[in-house]
Amino acid sequence: MLIVKKFGGTSVADKERIFNVARRCIEDYKNGNEVVVVLSAMGKQTDVLLAQAKDINPNASKRELDMLLTTGEQISVALMAMAMDSLGVPAVSLNAFQVAMHTTSVYSNARLKKIDTDRIKNELANKKIVIVTGFQGVNKFDDYTTLGRGGSDTTAVALAAALHADKCEIFTDVDGVFTADPRIVKNARKLNEITYDEMLELATLGAGVLHNRSVEMAKKYGVELVVRSSLNTTEGTVVKEEVKMEKMLVSGVACDRNAARIAVIGLEDQPGVAFKLFNHLAKYNINVDIIIQSIGRDGTKDISFTVDGDKVDEAVKILERHRETSLKCEKIDVEESIAKVSIVGAGMMSNAGVAAKMFEALYDVGVNIKMISTSEIRVTVIIDDVHVDKAMNAVHESFSLADF
Ligand code: ASP
Ligand code: MG
Repeated sequence: MLIVKKFGGTSVADKERIFNVARRCIEDYKNGNEVVVVLSAMGKQTDVLLAQAKDINPNASKRELDMLLTTGEQISVALMAMAMDSLGVPAVSLNAFQVAMHTTSVYSNARLKKIDTDRIKNELANKKIVIVTGFQGVNKFDDYTTLGRGGSDTTAVALAAALHADKCEIFTDVDGVFTADPRIVKNARKLNEITYDEMLELATLGAGVLHNRSVEMAKKYGVELVVRSSLNTTEGTVVKEEVKMEKMLVSGVACDRNAARIAVIGLEDQPGVAFKLFNHLAKYNINVDIIIQSIGRDGTKDISFTVDGDKVDEAVKILERHRETSLKCEKIDVEESIAKVSIVGAGMMSNAGVAAKMFEALYDVGVNIKMISTSEIRVTVIIDDVHVDKAMNAVHESFSLADF
C-alpha cells in the first residue's frame, strides 16, 4: 500500500514530537507499505518568520516572503529524515524544487499545477521513506512559491492524487472533524464521516482542520481523506463523496471571527456599478464573501459585503482611491467587530425549515442577525463578534437534540 501521511506544525513542534511522528511512519513502513510524509513547519515557525520579515521591512515583496517561508518546511523535513535515520530506517527529505512541484506564479497564494513523481517513485523503489515539504512549490521563473496559510494539506492531497496513493491521512492536534469547535462548544462531538461538500463548506468557513483547497482537490480526484490526531490512535474522521449513514440535517456549526463588513453607501443605481466595485477588488485578489445590495431609492443604492479581516484595510484603500472617480459613492463604512456563524449539512437540501430553526435559536439568546447568506448545504449569518460563543452554543444545541 502507498500511504501519504501529513503532519501539521504542532505535530512536529519539538524533538519529542518529531520522534513520535517518525515512529508512526516507521510502523507503516515496517508493515511493508510505501510511505510518503508531508510536513508543515515546526510549531509556529511560519508566524515567527513572518514577524521577522515585518520587522525588517513591513512592505516586503511576496517573492521574498515566499523565499523566507519555504525555509520553515525545509527545516522540519530535514530533521525528520535525520530522526528516522537515527532509528535505523532509510529516509530522504525533498523540497518542492527537488520533487518538482509546479505551481502558478502568484506568490503567497500559488496553486499546484503539476507534480513530477519520478524522483519520489525512485526513492520509494530504493526502500526509503520520502519526506516532502508541504505548503511550497516552484513557479515558471524557478522561484519558490507558497500555497497560502495552511497549504500543507493541499500538498498532501495533491501528492496522494499524483501518486495514486491508497490512503491519505492528515494528522493534526485534534481527534478529527467535530460538529463544532470543542473549545467553544462543550458538547461538540467528533464525526465519523463527512462528505467532501460539507467539509469544503466547513473548511472555507474557517473550521481550521483542513485547508479548503485540499478538500476541493480531494473531491476532484476522489482522494479519500482521514483526519486524525498525531497524539493518539483514535480513528478520526473520513472525508469522502458519500457517507453511509443517512445524510444528517446539520453536520457542523462553524464560526469565523476574522471577518469584516464594508458598506459602500450612495452608489448610483445604474448598470455596471457592482461590476466596477468588485472588479477593483478582484484586481488585487481580494476575495469577497457575502454581498447584499439594497433596493434602489432616489437613484442610489448601497452595497455591503464581507471580506477577510486581514484584507479590510487594503480593500478600503483601493475603494477610497476610486471613490470620487469610477465609484461615485457617498461614503464607505467599515465594521470590523463582526463574525460569521454557519451551519453546514448535506441533509438541508431536502429539508425545509433548517434556516428558520437556526434563526430561532439565535432569537432565543437575543442575538441580532446583520446579514444572511445561504447555499444548498449551508446557512451563514453575520453577527456581532462578542456574541459568537453564545450563538454557537445555542445553534449547536438546537440541532444536536434531534439531528447530530
Ligand atoms: N506552515 C504553513 C502555515 O503555517 C503551512 C501549513 O502549516 O500548512 O501556514
Ligand atoms: Mg493546518
